[in-house]
Parts: sequence; C-alpha cells; structure tokens
Amino acid sequence: MTTFADRTAATSTPPPAAPVATADFIALDEQWSTHNYHPLPVVIAGGEGATVTDVEGATYLDFLSGYSALNFGHRHPELVAAATEQLERVTLTSRAFHHDRFGPFCRELAELTGTEMVLPMNSGAEAVESAIKVARKWAHRVKGVPDGQARIVVASDNFHGRTTTIVSFSTDEDARADFGPFTPGFDVVPYGDADALAAAITDHTAAVLVEPVQGEAGVVVPPSGYLAEVRRLCDEAGALLIADEIQSGLCRTGTIFALEHEGVRADLYTLGKALGGGIVPVSAVVGRRDVLGVLRPGEHGSTFGGNPLACAVGSAVVRLLSTGEFAERATALGEHLHTRLAGLVGHGVGAVRGRGLWAGVDISPGGPTGRRASEALRERGVLCKETHGSTLRIAPPLVITEAELDRGIDAIEAVAGG
Ligand SMILES: *Cc1c(COP(=O)(O)O)cnc(C)c1O
Repeated sequence: MTTFADRTAATSTPPPAAPVATADFIALDEQWSTHNYHPLPVVIAGGEGATVTDVEGATYLDFLSGYSALNFGHRHPELVAAATEQLERVTLTSRAFHHDRFGPFCRELAELTGTEMVLPMNSGAEAVESAIKVARKWAHRVKGVPDGQARIVVASDNFHGRTTTIVSFSTDEDARADFGPFTPGFDVVPYGDADALAAAITDHTAAVLVEPVQGEAGVVVPPSGYLAEVRRLCDEAGALLIADEIQSGLCRTGTIFALEHEGVRADLYTLGKALGGGIVPVSAVVGRRDVLGVLRPGEHGSTFGGNPLACAVGSAVVRLLSTGEFAERATALGEHLHTRLAGLVGHGVGAVRGRGLWAGVDISPGGPTGRRASEALRERGVLCKETHGSTLRIAPPLVITEAELDRGIDAIEAVAGG
C-alpha cells in the first residue's frame, strides 16, 4: 500500500532539468496536455504591443491577436495598470455579495454599446449559452411559445463556441462528431440567404442567432442588405435578433459592433474576447431590458462572472474604446490592409474578404496549404493561423503600426507568391 509519506517522498525527488529549448516545451505539451489543438512550433514567453518573443529570444509580429482577444495588443499599459490596481484590492467576491466594480462596469458597457442591461459571464461560449437561455425563457414567458417548444434559427458554418449545446448546431463535423446526443431546438439555414431564413422562421421561433461577419468560417462578410433583412424578418415574426459579436465587435471592424456597418441593431449582443483586454476572460450578453429582465434570482449565474478583477479590466477596456482611437485605427489600417491584399489577388492569392483590420486570405490552388503558409510565415517572423484548408486569417492587434502591418503583408506576399 502506498502511504501519504511514500507519495510525498516520491514527489520530493528533484524535478527534471527545466526545459530550455522550443522542442523541450513542445514535448511537454505533447505528453501532458490533451491534443485538442495543433499549434505552430513556437513557444511564446513574452509579449508587448503587436510583438511576441519566444523562449529562444526570437521576436514575431502577432497577426492573430488571440482571435481578437488582444485587440489592444499585449500588455496595454492602461489595462495592466487597471488589473494591477485591482489585484491590490479585491479580486473575487462571488455574486453572493455586491462589489464596487460591478455596477460601474455594467453601466459603462451598456452606455458604450447603447444597450439597457448587462449579463456578465466569462468565456464567449458562456455568453452564447446565456443568450440562448434568455431567448428561450423570453419566448415562453413573453412571446407565448408553449413551454419547451422555443426554437432558435442559426446559420451554416457558424462558430459560437464549444459547449455540447453549441456544437449541437455546428455544421463543422470536426466540432460535432462523437459529441452527441445533441441539444434539440435549433434550425440551421445557409448563411447570407434571407429567403431560407424567412422559410425557417415559425411562430415558435424565439430568436435568430447570427455572426455579422463569420470569423472562424474564413472572415466571411454576408451580402450587403442581408443583415437588414434578418432584422426585418425578426421584427415581422416577433423573434429576437441575437448578434454574436464576440470576435467581430469592439472595434475589430472599425465600429463597436460590426452590425453598425449595415445600420442594424440587435436585441441581444454577445461580447467576449477583447472585452477582457487580453488579460482575463470577460464576456457578456448586452441588450434590451424587457428581454434580459426575464431572469430571476437562482435561474442563471457563474461563480466568476462579473468578478472585481474582470470588471476592473472590462471598465478599462470600455475607457479605451470610448476614446474613438481604436475605431479610427481599425478603419484606417484596415483600408491599408485591404488595399494591399487586393493587390495580391492573382499573385498567389485567390480571394480576400473582410472588414476593418480583419481579413481572410485564400491561397490560390497550387500554392501552399494554409498550414504550410502559416509555418512559412512563422519562419519569416509573422504569426497567423489558417482556418479551413487554404485560408489565412489575419487580425493584427489594433495598436499595430502601419510599418509593422506592411512588414507582415510583405511576408504574406512572399509566402503566397513564392
Ligand atoms: C471565440 C468565439 C466564441 C467562443 O468564445 P470562447 O471564449 O472561446 O468560448 C463564440 N462566438 C464567436 C463568434 C467567437 O469568435
């Protein structure tokens, strides 16, 4: 029998020498962590602004920015200061008690987004789950859908997170296969097809859940007028429009919400990623009081949701966004990015999509695969990630300079064309 003392003795033997090289760290990941990612072979040890440094001391331009979680770059001084100040005060209370960062954060976020109420959570997937729960309860209690029969219409090629309910309505087999049984109550229609949406909406439709730009699908912008039509169809049917702005929101496209480009407002928005300033996970559902107001004590919650550290960072993010500087940067740099990328079409690049400082770049057939192109870019000091097959997704931090942006685009030009 192994005693406690035996086990302590076993663990007190000297640990193996600390790994120093890239390959040693990767070997540890391979052995000790689940293999649910396939990272590029770079081991990051530091970051500042639009740059990261690896364990060997090499520096790279970050052209992915944590899928937009790092919109303000690595360790933005104002965000680090807000977090540090809060670390010295109080970090967690649970929602069993009030705390002095909560109300101010909710008010600031509502004012920034022009909404009436905020439901803070942590991850993006939790925000989407929360919006689904709220929409269902609203349908049953306010719209008058018979209990348990509320339905939600979603788009093909969506990405809304990784929970069992959310993968239930994914159309990506890798995300879904083997994870059933699936949650019922979702209807999938082709993205960008308003007629298909019109045909799918019934009296039992609680909501339409849509990404204004589909990031994971390859930065797909729907046909102009589509989102306005989604709004009109929701109004006609008395259904809620839920915009998942977790990746597209908070100035990635040059506006607080990507929906603004189409002059459309949603009833509920999900936010995440950049809301945590690249420091802590912070997500939220924001929207109409008469919809979010259906929740009563005990019906929904999260131990960490809306904690003091998250709120302090979230408030600092809202302050940065309110200056207008990041919207301007995303717009101006985005124009530059798209002008230059358009020039690559026909030179190793098949098509480019996107909005603001955000682009999906399809490598032409015969060129490198998306994975191989990402690896070649890493060798040239630029980090970005392929999405499906041969598409590169480009989303640099909004703090990037035009010279840095050009350096990254030069590398893409060389890799796609050569
Ligand atoms: C990343 C993302 C999510 C999920 O966010 P997590 O924090 O990874 O759970 C949901 N929706 C969209 C559009 C996203 O980009």
